[in-house]
Amino acid sequence: MTTRCGFVALAGRPNVGKSTLLNHLLGRKLSITSRKPQTTRHNLLGIRTQGNAQVVYLDTPGIHLKRGEGRRGGPAKAINRYMTGQALHAVRDANVVVLMIEARGWTEADAAALREVERSAAPCICAINKIDRLRDKRALLPLIDDVRGRCDFCAIVPVSALRRDGLDALEREISARMPIGPHLFAADDVTNRPTEFFLSEIVREKIMRRLGDEVPHRVAVEVERFAAGSDVAEVDAVVYVERKSQKAIVIGRGGARLKAIGADARQDIEHLLGRQTMLRLWVKVKAGWSNDAASLKALGYR
Ligand code: GDP
Ligand code: MG
Repeated sequence: MTTRCGFVALAGRPNVGKSTLLNHLLGRKLSITSRKPQTTRHNLLGIRTQGNAQVVYLDTPGIHLKRGEGRRGGPAKAINRYMTGQALHAVRDANVVVLMIEARGWTEADAAALREVERSAAPCICAINKIDRLRDKRALLPLIDDVRGRCDFCAIVPVSALRRDGLDALEREISARMPIGPHLFAADDVTNRPTEFFLSEIVREKIMRRLGDEVPHRVAVEVERFAAGSDVAEVDAVVYVERKSQKAIVIGRGGARLKAIGADARQDIEHLLGRQTMLRLWVKVKAGWSNDAASLKALGYR
């Protein structure tokens, strides 16, 4: 039997819907999402096996800074360099690249993402996402024409990742381009990451969603202990922030915010583990973790 197997990099500017697409392709929440850019920090494998074809998706954090360019002209922060490096590797190693843009129209940030994608020799599919937001679907035609002129895309597929529209068509375009080769994972594998990774990502998602714009990018979560147990699981996790003032914000008045974050997270964790869970959260200050190579490594940003 001929089998096919290959890697697909999901590329595109932050917030276009790459993680949402991955979750809905896999039918399982693997990648955390929020309205804030930079929600995805790590490359994440999502594995989907259908018949003879195994497709390994790489959700990427997106391109955050041109190398050597800090936000105020200074050097790029270590965390931003890490995220950009993750995205560039994924694109280089892929057999197919999906460049995602939004149906609203082509932007400068899309052009920057395209320049990075063009470094890869792999065929590139353009997925036009969020078509559910278009009041008039006819607006798609001029956009498709515009996109066609920008790069030699092997396919252009309008989708709504959120509503699961057009995903079959997108998967067909992808599977047809997977190289012949043995499967790298078991047919029922969904990811390559351990459970602890998803537990800490769930907590981080709830923090991102409960807090304003400033603090979330200064937050890292580490699961210190995970015991699956037979009927009740136990999870101890530490939330790292960079300053005392951020610690106060995460904890909230009388501990109210941390409690709410914990309640949100527990619900998702119980869903993931399929059992009751005792979740304990601590908040600790680790000054400058996001710009320190050793701290990044210790927190799983390898
Ligand atoms: P990423 O940064 O590219 O991974 O983007 P996310 O998957 O985190 O999505 C960013 C935001 O766009 C989230 O609030 C999603 O719910 C939203 N979103 C993603 N796909 C769609 C879509 O098809 N339609 C609409 N209306 N919103 C979407
Ligand atoms: Mg993402």
